[in-house]
Amino acid sequence: MNKKTGRVRMPKGKKANAGTRNTAHVNARKTHPMSVRVKKMRLEARRELKLKAQKKALKEQAKLDLEAAENERLRVEGLLDNAVFADFISKNIGKKAISVIKMLNEPQTDEKIAADLNVKINEVRRVLNVLDSYGVARYDTNKDSKGWLTFKWYLDGEKLTELHQNAVNSKPGDGYKMPENCNDFFYCGKCYEEAKVILPFDAAFESQFKCEGCGKALKQMSKEEARVLFEEASTSNDKGITAAPV
Ligand SMILES: [Zn+2]
Repeated sequence: MNKKTGRVRMPKGKKANAGTRNTAHVNARKTHPMSVRVKKMRLEARRELKLKAQKKALKEQAKLDLEAAENERLRVEGLLDNAVFADFISKNIGKKAISVIKMLNEPQTDEKIAADLNVKINEVRRVLNVLDSYGVARYDTNKDSKGWLTFKWYLDGEKLTELHQNAVNSKPGDGYKMPENCNDFFYCGKCYEEAKVILPFDAAFESQFKCEGCGKALKQMSKEEARVLFEEASTSNDKGITAAPV
């Protein structure tokens, strides 16, 4: 098309309107399927572009997510590298707790953790429950294909940071932090004086309310009674107290 005149140049040998009577209906019939096809092609091209853009955005988001997860993993590892914090976790939650925490970077089932760490599943569950009582580990429930509930555990990085702050800033006389959302605590009447072990409900439940030291039935106490023992232990000796067997 000529931009200045707006005219369309006709192919050689043909004149505009030459030899045609009323061809509008013929043209309409000819051009109609063509224009639909063109429209379809354009639509498809546009859709493809949109899909490409979406894919690219998803890819970029996945990359960002991966980077964020990796940064968080390194941050958690940094927290756990602190000797005071590592000692706190080992004494209060369990010797395998650090390895378990490191695995919670991605949501995991207790079975997977037990298999990967080669630790008994009951020990993994006990550690997870104690971590849960500190708010450090949380879980999502899902139904698998057979309708069974599966639990996937993951780390609450903020809570871990809080726990880290508390553990690192506490002086030897401050004693250990009690798990907040637990109201029932257990201890062994025979071993307490020596072992100074107090178990939150979940940990006691996992060991079937039996002392892991001597096998005797554990005794229950209230949160207030536990608090008194925690305070007593932290002021009367440098041994501190453990909220779970180690
Ligand atoms: Zn005992």
